[in-house]
Amino acid sequence: MVIVMGQEATGGDVASIVAVVRAAGVEAFVSRGVTRTIVGLVGDVTQLDAANLRGMPGVREVMRVSTPYKLVSRENHPERSTVRVGGVPIGPGTVTLIAGPCAVETPEQTLQAARMAQAAGATLLRGGAYKPRTSPYAFQGLGEKGLRILADVREETGLPIVTEVVDARDVELVASYADMLQVGTRNAQNFALLQAVGAAGRPVMLKRGMNATIEEWLMAAEYVAQRGNLDVVLCERGIRTFETATRNTLDISAVPVAQRLSHLPVIVDPSHSGGRRDLVLPLTRAALAVGADGVIIDVHPHPEQALCDGPQALVDTDLGELAQVMRDLPPLLGKSAAAPAALI
Ligand code: PEP
Ligand code: MN
Repeated sequence: MVIVMGQEATGGDVASIVAVVRAAGVEAFVSRGVTRTIVGLVGDVTQLDAANLRGMPGVREVMRVSTPYKLVSRENHPERSTVRVGGVPIGPGTVTLIAGPCAVETPEQTLQAARMAQAAGATLLRGGAYKPRTSPYAFQGLGEKGLRILADVREETGLPIVTEVVDARDVELVASYADMLQVGTRNAQNFALLQAVGAAGRPVMLKRGMNATIEEWLMAAEYVAQRGNLDVVLCERGIRTFETATRNTLDISAVPVAQRLSHLPVIVDPSHSGGRRDLVLPLTRAALAVGADGVIIDVHPHPEQALCDGPQALVDTDLGELAQVMRDLPPLLGKSAAAPAALI
């Protein structure tokens, strides 16, 4: 919403507007021009009455600026959403831990990683069967064989599975195994894929493009929603910056910003953000503290042998601390850890 003040408006008029707006929990930014002053509002403006604002002294015009994304916007959907994946909630009130190997390599490795995930409190299993690798010479994943391994491990552990799909032509196949479809950072603006997952009848986890603005990320989510699928979880996984000490720069502010702009749940991937094992726990704490609805974390029984992203995978000796974070932090934030699907 934008409020345009008339030339005659006094400093006191502008201050009164700002006070009313802030009292409704909305941020007000005042831009003073030569001939007029504009007050731009950022946040959930549903509690503000445009007609009342129009009647205040000095106001010339009140304009609603509609966002380029509608279905995922919080403007017409003020309540934050909960997405259920095989019975496990991701949304306000809970903090969900999704964990597992970066890539499915063997049945043994996947089962061991799933047990590690469970020991740390995970209620959903991650694991890639189709890997979008930057190098064409790197391990590309086991494909359908990997999906079958995931399905067996789900059977064994009871953990619903989250797995990536990289090609619109594979969506139906991947959806026939997966409880949640992941769209990765490299495909975050692959609109054909976004539309295909939108029509697949499964919840979707949409990673933020490594060079996408928050608005572009939400417009990508809108592509999925437009095909009738509102079960979308946004995942902040770090963006490209000039910094080289970390794999990506975790944009921690993106969590509350996206939660204010959109009703969709927002989770964080501290593994792919930092790209370093020693940063995963600190970034997990930061994600929970800033209000993330969950985290997705790489674990591996033998990261030195991993075919993908070994240096960022947590190992056995990290699990106690991860479990402690997942147990102790949510209650301090007025949330609970998401219960396993079997208990719901
Ligand atoms: C992944 O989660 O396995 C992955 C490839 O992540 P991203 O798309 O964020 O790089
Ligand atoms: Mn990875």
